[in-house]
Amino acid sequence: MIFAAPAPRIPLSPARLTLLSAAYLVAHLFLDWVSFFHEVPPLNITPWNPPSGLILTVVLIGGARLLPAVWLALTLADALVRGMPVGLGTVLLSNAGITLIYGGAALFLRDRFRIGPGLGRRGDVARLLGVTAVAAAVVGAVYIGLFVALGLFPLHQLPVMLLRHWTGEVIGIAVVTPFLLVWGGRIMPLLRGRRLPPLRRAIEVGLQSAAVALALWADFGPLASDQYEYFYILFLPLVWIASRHGLPGATLGALATQIGLIIAMQEVGVDADRMMHFQMLMLALTVTALLLGAVVSDRWRSEAWVQARQTEFAHASRLTEAGEMTAALAHELNQPLTATMSYTRAARKIAQRDGVSAQLAETLDKAVAQAERADRVMRSLRDFVRKGESSRQPLAVAGLIADSLDLAGPVLRQKDVTAATEVAVGLPAVSADAIQVQQVLLNLLRNAAEAVSTTGATGKEPQVVVSAVVAEPGFVAVTVRDRGPGLSEIVERHLFSPFITTKDTGMGLGLSIARSIIDAHGGTLTAHRLPEGGTAFRFTLPVAVGAEDQEEKE
Ligand code: ADP
Repeated sequence: MIFAAPAPRIPLSPARLTLLSAAYLVAHLFLDWVSFFHEVPPLNITPWNPPSGLILTVVLIGGARLLPAVWLALTLADALVRGMPVGLGTVLLSNAGITLIYGGAALFLRDRFRIGPGLGRRGDVARLLGVTAVAAAVVGAVYIGLFVALGLFPLHQLPVMLLRHWTGEVIGIAVVTPFLLVWGGRIMPLLRGRRLPPLRRAIEVGLQSAAVALALWADFGPLASDQYEYFYILFLPLVWIASRHGLPGATLGALATQIGLIIAMQEVGVDADRMMHFQMLMLALTVTALLLGAVVSDRWRSEAWVQARQTEFAHASRLTEAGEMTAALAHELNQPLTATMSYTRAARKIAQRDGVSAQLAETLDKAVAQAERADRVMRSLRDFVRKGESSRQPLAVAGLIADSLDLAGPVLRQKDVTAATEVAVGLPAVSADAIQVQQVLLNLLRNAAEAVSTTGATGKEPQVVVSAVVAEPGFVAVTVRDRGPGLSEIVERHLFSPFITTKDTGMGLGLSIARSIIDAHGGTLTAHRLPEGGTAFRFTLPVAVGAEDQEEKE
């Protein structure tokens, strides 16, 4: 089940349920009326029975709450369309049996096999057809058996009637239920004018419809033989349709062919026995088309799945390249950084020896400290990228945040952005690599400052707030929220993927590296749009071993 999620349940409010029941009732009566011909008395078995397909569909979608409507529809159809074949008591009883068996089959399909709208998973079509075949046989046995038991029907006719009934039921369900389940969700976008087929597709569909019509004409037209032995020609257009358009095409093709076949048989005046023979052929044709369509759709899903994995793989290898680049950069910068540090130290010694201003000595001290820090960042990043390593220690979250705000100070001042902290009292220590987590925080703070500066917002409230609280058990959550414009849609969709940036000078690597660092720590990094505007980035870090009780102790 890798390729598609299980069928979703459709939540039905009471109003929608009433609407669905009413629409179903009308559709059931209409379908029964149009398909009620060549009935075999006294049971009024017809060559195909599409209302049964409707019953399975509505119970699959609406659940057991639709069963009373099914029972009512069957009874109304007996009264209005079928002219009450037997007494009311028998009709009510047999309809209750049909409702329970088909309803049970639909609920079994839904709850046991998770079959629902779309028929989107491998094996859905085969399971639907299998359960249908069994349910139709049970309905036939109960329904016809009841009439035999009541003495309304001779026993010796039982086998042929059972077969006739079974064929009509299965073809009715096989043609209607998959069509409704597959096309139910597709028709609305088509009606709204979206996804209209492009010209080439429209031409192909036109040719395929013409092929179905031609095959029917070859079978029943003026040139056809009395034996109708060209029926097999109908396999060609249906196999063509199923192989080109997958399951949606197969369901539509089977329905159109069945309707065409019924009309052709009516026009030609085929007798009831031969009609039954055609319906068995049509059943073989429908099952072939549906199974072929399901295999084709399944192949499409597999291809889409493989393509999605390939894209992910391409992203991953670009990230590896970026990692290699970082390592190479760290190596190249190592030399000049070491030289800078020794020259600055030498300058400091000279300043001390010659007794020049104390301010110069202090400034040179700061320069040495910053160069040393840059060196540590480089080493730490290179180690992480090369080996995914980090050296973790128990660290106070408040200290980590304060250090990162210090580091971000120049950017915040440059962008004229105010920042504040909200750290919960008595937070336990976290197990983390200080330099790496500072990198993450620094990156989030820089992004926040850049986002805020684009809005030009001012005011008394701090524009960036870093907060820390105890999150899910065993974790501390740190959040950086800003009052910037919020994430743009395209960025939000691909956030944390490398090379996604909206900035002229951005590399789009900050967030993806930040996520790798937090992942490597066993935490999670997520982004949220804030309802009042702005963005919040939240990451979690594991509480250090032995620090869990710290909060209680303090
Ligand atoms: P870079 O900063 O180099 O663009 P990042 O990976 O750090 O790379 O960020 C990727 C993109 O995410 C940014 O270009 C920006 O569009 C968006 N982004 C990140 N943080 C914020 C934020 N706080 N508010 C709005 N957009 C943001």
